[in-house]
Amino acid sequence: MGYTKAEILKALKEENVKFLRLQITDILGVVKNVEVPASQFEKALDGEIMFDGSSIEGFTRIEESDMLLKPDYNTFVILPDLVEDPTRGRVARLICDVTYPDGRPFEGDPRYVLKRQVERLQKLGFDNMYAGPEPEFFLFLRTPEGLPTVETHDKAGYFDLAPIDKGEEARRDMVNALVAMGFEIEASHHEVAPGQHEIDFKYADALTTADNIATFKWVVKRIALNHGLHATFLPKPIAGINGSGMHTHLSLFKDGENAFFDPNAEYQLSQTALHFIAGLLEHAAGMVAITNPLVNSYKRLTPGYEAPTNIAWSASNRSAMIRIPARRGVGTRAELRMPDPSCNPYLALAVMAAAGADGIERKLLPPPPIQRNIYQMTVRERRKHKIRELPGTLREALEALKKDPVIREALGEHVYTHFLQAKQMEWDNYRITVHQWELDRYLATY
Ligand code: GLN
Ligand code: MG
Ligand code: MG
Ligand code: MG
Repeated sequence: MGYTKAEILKALKEENVKFLRLQITDILGVVKNVEVPASQFEKALDGEIMFDGSSIEGFTRIEESDMLLKPDYNTFVILPDLVEDPTRGRVARLICDVTYPDGRPFEGDPRYVLKRQVERLQKLGFDNMYAGPEPEFFLFLRTPEGLPTVETHDKAGYFDLAPIDKGEEARRDMVNALVAMGFEIEASHHEVAPGQHEIDFKYADALTTADNIATFKWVVKRIALNHGLHATFLPKPIAGINGSGMHTHLSLFKDGENAFFDPNAEYQLSQTALHFIAGLLEHAAGMVAITNPLVNSYKRLTPGYEAPTNIAWSASNRSAMIRIPARRGVGTRAELRMPDPSCNPYLALAVMAAAGADGIERKLLPPPPIQRNIYQMTVRERRKHKIRELPGTLREALEALKKDPVIREALGEHVYTHFLQAKQMEWDNYRITVHQWELDRYLATY
């Protein structure tokens, strides 16, 4: 943390690093790297490496494609041997901001989108938004040709003590690699479904957490590959069993103290916490296209698999979209349960911050929390409690996004337009495809 250019150059030299990866994330959440050899290290650190933005999804038009990569020195890490085989030379990486040649921040850079929302919260007097994610993923076997399957190797369930699990070995390597890269891993365990895992790392400020999630996904995939496995963050790879979520724990700090905690208030939640929660509820439908961006995401958001389907909050029940974990004091937080790990972490945290900030700015208050299992409520009961449903398909989510000016503004015109366009094409492509289900269901009969 807090390296200087001189320190990084020294480390690169002393550790005999041969390649530097300059890491960015595109609008759809795919991590991209530009790699430079030792002769370019100084230039790279000075932020003078140009790349062709038009080669990256949703970045720029051909006619304005020259972009600069400005490394964030805080993100410097030498990749451990588990991640990057050192036989061709050691590799280090830096996460970058993207700017125009004249140094102006590029509006299409998801990292910039998140920074803007953090600044907005800081203008409201907060130190930062803190976020702790719980990314889940499946480990699947590969075919002899190396193609991913949806076959798992284990029969283990949630927290099993002695799983017959090849995945567990891989998971230990993942944890070791992440620790070597500076992650503080809080827990790692087998999840509910066969082949499903979760690795939780310590909460941090929003930007650090988004960087961490991007790095995490990349490392997990890489290590799985070393074990001949395929790691996937696809939210619902197999129907009929739990999907993969990325619950995100959120809190705001002010003057070094948790601003969600008020020992004397109802539920010991401050007005700030209530406003923030109300903002998340208000904008849930509008932001779900960002937090759950795939056609497949909405197959996870169905009743019965510990994933939320309704827009509600609860002091404890896990069927609600927002749950307030029992911890109070410095650990007071809201757990947002709809996001899934296929999202772009920068944009996802940006829309969460924007929704919360809007709640605070407008002093919104949430309805009373729902303490019962919402899956078991009748439609009438849900209506009585004014519980709205989350969008049920990507298409509905895109419609809701179009109707939410707060989320649109948080994304900025560039990202909003490119995201919407890409996702509308994705939906249309899905819509006109004839799926196996239709053939199985109809072909013999009609
Ligand atoms: N897999 C569940 C989901 O999709 C979460 C399960 C859990 O962590 N309790 O959100
Ligand atoms: Mg968990
Ligand atoms: Mg979990
Ligand atoms: Mg959780």
